[in-house]
Amino acid sequence: LFSELSDIPLDSHYALKEEFSADPAPKKVILGSGIYRDGNGMPWVLPTVKEAEDIVDNIGDPGRYDYLQIAGSAAFYTAARDLLFGRVDTKVESIVSVQAVSGTGANSLGARFLSESLKPSAVWLSNPSWVNHANIWSLVGVEVKYYPYWDAEKRLLDFENMIKTLESHTKPGDVIVLHGCAHNPTGVDPTKDQWKTIADVCQRRGLFPFFDNAYQGFASGDLDEDAWALRHFAGRENMELAAAQSFSKNMGLYGERVGALHILTASPDAASKVKGHVLRIQRGQVSQPPRRGATLATTILTNGKLFQKWLLDLREMSSRIKDMRKALHDELVALGTPGDWGHILTQIGMFSYTGLSPAQVEHLRSEGHVYILASGRISVPGLNPGNVKYVAAAIDKAVRG
Ligand code: PMP
Repeated sequence: LFSELSDIPLDSHYALKEEFSADPAPKKVILGSGIYRDGNGMPWVLPTVKEAEDIVDNIGDPGRYDYLQIAGSAAFYTAARDLLFGRVDTKVESIVSVQAVSGTGANSLGARFLSESLKPSAVWLSNPSWVNHANIWSLVGVEVKYYPYWDAEKRLLDFENMIKTLESHTKPGDVIVLHGCAHNPTGVDPTKDQWKTIADVCQRRGLFPFFDNAYQGFASGDLDEDAWALRHFAGRENMELAAAQSFSKNMGLYGERVGALHILTASPDAASKVKGHVLRIQRGQVSQPPRRGATLATTILTNGKLFQKWLLDLREMSSRIKDMRKALHDELVALGTPGDWGHILTQIGMFSYTGLSPAQVEHLRSEGHVYILASGRISVPGLNPGNVKYVAAAIDKAVRG
């Protein structure tokens, strides 16, 4: 029955992990997936999450393994919404929020709902974008198109061409996916003025913005600053939008799958209709989202003391990443590695788009046993004081060929 199916290659992140595991070299480094590691290269359970675990486990709620509602935990998705949209939002009655199976689930749920309700002629993704965006939108049968984003030569945002494409090639009702902050994979975000221009274009062209917010708190280390773009859009008159939110990175709850989907509609009445449709889809896909991670996140978001401590955890992660950017940059400069490496310092969030060519990436892997994605993206938190010199030396050799 299935012998005629085409072969589907393993997702590039997972293929990289398999190659890495199979490499017998005694010294090897992987800078693939966007997952935080501490200064010793170990997974880091946030101290705030440990405290939340103690609180939750001490309560010993007898219903702790019960099903949640189809929409998930209201305490969770309300606190999550406030974190993203800010507490002062006057349109709160017009926002539909539901808990989702982390950021990926929120993207998928939103894509499925928007494909059914808006019937867009296309979804517009940045070129490049998180690899799973195209997959998610293809699964719901929407044509995937790309707007220019990265100027490979200048290693900067290609803003002019981005706007030109959006102005001339999009159709009303098309969806545009925007990364709320810390763009994956490039680490390059629009400036505030550029965000305003993007919002203008969306309104003029009738595009429906879908924000993907997987890194709030990781770009600047400031939760409000990292939500600025979304809040700017949401604050505009006659703006409707969707937002996928993830707590994988900013709470380190990767495997717990904690996230939310929010849809800002034109009125409370529209919101109630949207909610019905979103819940219908959620019921068919997962019935109810998972409980424990959302309980931990709610505990952190709603307990004033813990919330303040969480800000310190966020700062610790974002400043370690910044330190590693500087360390890698300084090593490359010290080695006199040909090229300009300033972009490693100016890019933000978990990733750096190094500008290394596929051939150089291959050289890194085969000669240096350093594993990065073929696009040249490195996950900066994979660097630590124990491996950064080694990685820089391997990059140096790869660049010199
Ligand atoms: N969106 C973007 C842009 C991401 O980088 C990621 C994680 N790599 C996600 C969504 C989803 O992550 P998760 O499903 O773990 O929340």
